[in-house]
Amino acid sequence: AKERGKNNYQFYTLEMTERSMERLTIERGLRHALVHDELRLHYQPQVDTDSGLIIGAEALLRWHHPEWGLVYPDRFIAVAEETGLIVPIGAWVLHTACLQAKTWLEQKGPFKCVAVNVSPRQFVESNLFETIKQTLAETGLPPDALELEITESAVMQDPENTLRVLQQLQALGVRLSIDDFGTGYSSLTYLRRFPVQSVKIDRSFVMDLPNDEGSKTLVRAIIALAHELKLHVVAEGVETDAQFSFLKTQQCDALQGYMFSKPLEPQQLKIGITTAEF
Ligand code: C2E
Ligand code: CA
Ligand code: CA
Ligand code: CA
Repeated sequence: AKERGKNNYQFYTLEMTERSMERLTIERGLRHALVHDELRLHYQPQVDTDSGLIIGAEALLRWHHPEWGLVYPDRFIAVAEETGLIVPIGAWVLHTACLQAKTWLEQKGPFKCVAVNVSPRQFVESNLFETIKQTLAETGLPPDALELEITESAVMQDPENTLRVLQQLQALGVRLSIDDFGTGYSSLTYLRRFPVQSVKIDRSFVMDLPNDEGSKTLVRAIIALAHELKLHVVAEGVETDAQFSFLKTQQCDALQGYMFSKPLEPQQLKIGITTAEF
């Protein structure tokens, strides 16, 4: 037993070393990626539930690594957050998404806004308000064509500061949305206190619709509550017809998920048509 314990220990430290090596490799790679233009945004259509038309999109970060190929955010966002690299990366994301949104807006269709994910670190460590104000000025995008997706953990880390920044952004006219709604501990408190216009129901609640009674009750309650507060509701991770019709019956305002489209390269996405027309 003693031998085995020792081996386990060695195995464990080896694994830890490997993991920190990988982190270091990713950190170096990300610094390189920023300078050498290896980051890309893909856009997942957001569909208006009633009309079925594409009215906007969520920008999702991708890393085109010269050797590793396409790298997804689950492999590098955590490292970017821990090292603070998410601040310059986030600024790049904002700028790129606003430029893209400007071209969609100029197409004169029903385009509403581009949604951009914002990390907690961007609130704490950068002058997020100034960055956004400047980005909108540089790209010429009207503030209400930009929606920021904020998670509850962002708010939780530093509520006073976050609230102040959100109020500034709201005054500027930027749209604010709570991402992964329902997965945090204090969703309801934040809904009351924070100046947001919409909530995004997390995929974990959509996944088991419409058969799971618990999910049904929760989703119904979230939509009713949000509408009572005059908030717009988006559901993420919609994959099946059955999920779609349940959400439509509950009057969820907009939908996003593989049933409509996976995230696309910007030139593949057209505003104002249905995803069936691709
Ligand atoms: P998220 O904000 O919850 O984004 C939704 C994720 O679900 C995306 O994964 C999307 O591709 C995926 N997805 C969309 N529809 C479906 C569906 O029908 N079924 C399933 N199973 N999945 C679906 P992705 O692109 O890998 O992004 C993962 C996470 O990385 C995002 O989760 C977000 O938290 C983070 N992220 C992505 N881009 C950025 C960024 O620019 N900045 C920051 N800070 N975080 C980002
Ligand atoms: Ca999101
Ligand atoms: Ca989400
Ligand atoms: Ca989610």
